[in-house]
Amino acid sequence: MTQQIQRRETREISVGTTAIGGNAPIAVQSMCATKTRDIDATVAQTSQLERAGAGIVRIAIDNEKEVDALREIRTQTKANLAVDLQENYKLADKVAPFVDKIRYNPGHLHHIEKDKAIADKVAWLADVAGSNDCALRVGVNCGSVAPEFLERYPGDQLEALVQSAIYHCGLLEDLGFEQFVVSLKDSDPTKVVAANRRFAKAVPDVPLHLGVTEAGLPPQGIIKTRVAFEKLLAEGIGDTLRVSLTLPNERKHEEVEVGHAIINDVANGRFISVPDLSGLNIISCPSCSRVENEAFVNLAQDVREMTEYASKHDITIAVMGCRVNGPGETDDADLGLWCGPSTVVLKRKAEKVGSYGYDIVLDALRSQLDALIEQRSAGAA
Ligand code: SF4
Repeated sequence: MTQQIQRRETREISVGTTAIGGNAPIAVQSMCATKTRDIDATVAQTSQLERAGAGIVRIAIDNEKEVDALREIRTQTKANLAVDLQENYKLADKVAPFVDKIRYNPGHLHHIEKDKAIADKVAWLADVAGSNDCALRVGVNCGSVAPEFLERYPGDQLEALVQSAIYHCGLLEDLGFEQFVVSLKDSDPTKVVAANRRFAKAVPDVPLHLGVTEAGLPPQGIIKTRVAFEKLLAEGIGDTLRVSLTLPNERKHEEVEVGHAIINDVANGRFISVPDLSGLNIISCPSCSRVENEAFVNLAQDVREMTEYASKHDITIAVMGCRVNGPGETDDADLGLWCGPSTVVLKRKAEKVGSYGYDIVLDALRSQLDALIEQRSAGAA
């Protein structure tokens, strides 16, 4: 694949055999959505993603049993593996021997060991990564900005997000650790563009990992991702990327294919016309091993079909696959659904409306959507 995108000058880091930044081609990555403890399925999906052109494959690890599975997965694949530490940064030293990159979220570091300084936690992570030849990703997300930065920049979540990332770059660089990339993500492509532009201007040499979280189902999820990636890549911003789509496992490799297609199109001057994203906006997470009920993917599809009648209304509906990230990531949506093992929680902004069985939640959503449309029409009148 020919890539002629002129990129800003960033330093090059290594993630196993994949280089990110510098003159390296833009690396496309993806994430397994299989249960990590299902070793055969996870190894098979890793191969599926690699065959499609993923230079790095991410796996979710939330507990020690999954660390045991990761140890075995490592023996069965040569893929460059990354792990996403969500709430539990303390798992880093357990996963580091088996992976090439660890992602930590600065907005989650305060969740455990509350008395320990963030700088000390980062120093420990850098030490673990350095002694295991691992890279790090500082992955900030609009849905989980560190509280001290939200307090410092009241009313400007984007600046809080960007400054949090910059602060962590400073911490790592002061420790002499340079094998890291940064990602600044949100489900809103305009925020992704703004955050990455601001960061790239402030810290031009740090490689950037691009992503639009919970972009949703194709084709809308692809369009949202293109909205952000086309703008940023065309400006030379972005050294690696992941396209997050809600897809069943057998189609998960399409994330990688779409990533390569976007890079190739931008490199060759092909920009699709981007539709106006006003109107009804359905966001859904790409799904991963944390999904507890596989009915989630069908639910996301059903929500899109059921809500077509409201397509002209500027309303965002978020459909999330799990109770780990679902509660927080749905707060900013007008209406949110997050999926548990047997019920789905319906929210209106941050407020819980109720829990519903998978078979009746669409009716409850429709009632809320109708009420919201009526309320807005009355307000407009
Ligand atoms: S919301 Fe949950 S299931 Fe969906 S991608 Fe995020 S962690 Fe995975």
